[in-house]
Amino acid sequence: MIFRILMLLLLAGFIYWVLKKPFAGDDSAKRRNPQREEPEDMLICETCGVHTPRSMTVQVEGKTYCCHEHAPSGKSSHSAYDG
Ligand SMILES: [Zn+2]
Repeated sequence: MIFRILMLLLLAGFIYWVLKKPFAGDDSAKRRNPQREEPEDMLICETCGVHTPRSMTVQVEGKTYCCHEHAPSGKSSHSAYDG
């Protein structure tokens, strides 16, 4: 009987060791995501009125457009918008 208990203890210890092994020295799980998501200005397109992040807008003559197609410059360059 005591032999079986010892075997169970050994088995439990072995399982514990196997399960614990991959997490040894793993502190990445504790590290939190910094979440550096700065709120960007949302500008309104003069043509369609859609809200667009400032970095994605097209500025023409002081006015803001969501894309080159809506800007009045008439430059028909589709490749520029195809980020
Ligand atoms: Zn637009």
